[in-house]
Amino acid sequence: MAAALYLPRHATPRQSPAARLASHSAASSDMADSVFHTRTQGTPAEGLRDQYADGKAARVWEVFIGDKNSRTRHYRNFLVGLLRRNNCRTVLDVACGTGIDSIMLLEEGFKVTSVDASDKMLKHALKSRWERRREKAFDEWVIEEANWLTLTEDLGGAADGFDAVLCLGNSFAHMPDPTGDQHDIRLALRNFRQCVKPGGLLLIDHRNYDHILDLGYTPSKCIYYNSQHMTDIVTSVLYVNGRPSLVTLDYMIDISERRDKSADDPISEDSISQFRLSYYPHRLEAFKDMLRETFCPLTRHTIYGDFKPLDEIEDPAFYIHVMQTPRLS
Ligand code: SAH
Repeated sequence: MAAALYLPRHATPRQSPAARLASHSAASSDMADSVFHTRTQGTPAEGLRDQYADGKAARVWEVFIGDKNSRTRHYRNFLVGLLRRNNCRTVLDVACGTGIDSIMLLEEGFKVTSVDASDKMLKHALKSRWERRREKAFDEWVIEEANWLTLTEDLGGAADGFDAVLCLGNSFAHMPDPTGDQHDIRLALRNFRQCVKPGGLLLIDHRNYDHILDLGYTPSKCIYYNSQHMTDIVTSVLYVNGRPSLVTLDYMIDISERRDKSADDPISEDSISQFRLSYYPHRLEAFKDMLRETFCPLTRHTIYGDFKPLDEIEDPAFYIHVMQTPRLS
């Protein structure tokens, strides 16, 4: 008998509601959806369910991430600095969402290809591209619908590859582990590797799930966005056979300011909008091992915590891994 333990927690430990126990007889971690709904009920993209399909997250994303032009300074400096130091010119953003990172990089002069599995999210990127089509960088901006499991096919072959591949904003943890042996997760990582040119970079991040699993709550501080509107993140952890298999975050966004601007805003009747996203909880050591298995041994692997070297930060909210593949000699 497989057992699933579901533990919902608020961002601040003292707010913790009662834990709930649920049991079920399915054998794999795929049972998550049968224990409680982790995803929207929208049309799945080919090969995976699109958690963003109901458009709810996409609609409030702009509020969630705050002013597009004021990405956290640390993030912009870190990303743009790293890409420039490594002479990167072509960038593949594999989780472009509404296009926020891609737009920042286009404005900084990079040649960007952006993909995402969610048409609801891509719609916003396509709209920005259309609105700014008279700017050369935007006219040349390539946007495609693609799933990490079939990435190279969806891109029409990785061809010569990219100087840098980005999977940022806690996106990668969206890849679930339906078989319990990380088969899909490893496949997605191999597909990313295939898109990186020799001497190029993969930048991939995840929340500090060690912290989330050990303490049961998620710090609402976000290193990527400047949004003032996040009020809480309610954290639930699903254990299958004693192993944490899924973390569900219910984001509470204060949209009252936005509603005041337009009274007929269709987002919600309330001033707090809520959307739910679920993640595979990557522990740092296990994720390091998976990356090392994916890339050849000569690949340089550097890890940052909230964009700082790991020895300069205690208990970061996010880990950012940079894989630098060896150049062809
Ligand atoms: N990087 C953006 C988007 C983050 S949201 C930002 O920081 O704002 C995460 C995105 O990952 C979503 O748009 C979701 O559709 C995408 N995603 C999740 N799983 C995916 C998959 N298997 N293939 C392609 N995109 C995926």
